[in-house]
Amino acid sequence: MNASIDVKRTVAELKELRSLTSDENGAQRVAFTETWLRARAWLRAKLEGLPVEIHVDEAGNLWTTLRGRSERALLIGGHMDSVPNGGWLDGCLNVLAGVGILRRISAQFGGEPPVTIRLVDWADEEGARFGKSLFGSSACSGTLDMDEARALRDRDGVRLPDALKAIGVDFEGVKKCGKELKNAAAYLELHIEQGPVLLDLGLPLGAVLGTFGVERHAITFRGQAAHSGSTPMNRRRDAFLAAARMGPEIYRIAEREGGVCTIGSCTTKPGIVTSVVEECRITLDQRHLDGAALARMLLAAREAAGRFAGEGNVSVSWERIWQIDPVLFNAGLISLCEESIRETCGSVHRLPSGPLHDAAEVARAGVPTVMMFVQSLHGISHNKIEDTREEHLELCVRAFDGLATKAMDWMSGGR
Ligand SMILES: [Zn+2]
Repeated sequence: MNASIDVKRTVAELKELRSLTSDENGAQRVAFTETWLRARAWLRAKLEGLPVEIHVDEAGNLWTTLRGRSERALLIGGHMDSVPNGGWLDGCLNVLAGVGILRRISAQFGGEPPVTIRLVDWADEEGARFGKSLFGSSACSGTLDMDEARALRDRDGVRLPDALKAIGVDFEGVKKCGKELKNAAAYLELHIEQGPVLLDLGLPLGAVLGTFGVERHAITFRGQAAHSGSTPMNRRRDAFLAAARMGPEIYRIAEREGGVCTIGSCTTKPGIVTSVVEECRITLDQRHLDGAALARMLLAAREAAGRFAGEGNVSVSWERIWQIDPVLFNAGLISLCEESIRETCGSVHRLPSGPLHDAAEVARAGVPTVMMFVQSLHGISHNKIEDTREEHLELCVRAFDGLATKAMDWMSGGR
């Protein structure tokens, strides 16, 4: 039987979820909250009637398994959780497209496909409450830093382990869920782009090459506080001047290497209108898909900071806040993703992902992985104005379903 996916049903379900879990400020499916649990209960109801097994793993991830003739599994992932006042598509588009694919494959193969198909709803992708994203997927991949996570508290002082206990998850055992990846042969994730690249190109869909590596640092310049009236310009040791010169410099570095660089915060001491700045601390976030280029960007920023400090007679010190290597997706699956997009809508673009996604964690665990992006209107997400054209939503579900078929074939050695 040749079943086809009902893309209009997926869009209708997205709207249904929106009306169930949003208010006038946007989506409110923050992980571990009552609204999130309601979204998950709704998801389970959507799966009723399918010949699937459903369980929650040790980290709170929700797995739906359609057993096939082979134990080798094709994984499709997403996240039902949102940021507070979030958009209606981020995370749940992936999950609901996965539900549509489960229905189509189950119908096509009479409930027993050649390979096992598993849909995973990752727990707390956004990290909105505890400030740490990719919780469920990093527990599963094994990269979760247990000491760091154990100490996390929300705004009300509630510890992450206590919040997890409330939903029946034992924090100390979360990494046991790594066993879920045992038979995983491929992982697919559909996502809204959350940026303006596809919009600017006028293309609905893109194949994602991987996720950016990130270098995140605090840079502190130290000079001397001095009276703003009595200190001649040539006698100043102005920490702000040196820091400010980093502004245009990081744009030059990003342009040269093709990555992105951001100075996201700047604080000064003493921070009063009548004093030359004694201490200026800026944060620098640099991202690139190519690890060597990322290293060059960081080196160039370090050299520039040293030069500006020397010229301004101030000192400079660096402190690494966070770092992650680039994660490259599987070349074979990227080609299949492109192929399916081309078959669905004619043209395709390859692009890296600036934001991190659960897919990066699965790829880090060694599972061949790829993501598909669909155009975001306004290039915006994590905001209630997040949106995608309805015809693009239908296209992405159709192309993603095509990718699932190609991936099943690829896993079985058919190509
Ligand atoms: Zn997301």
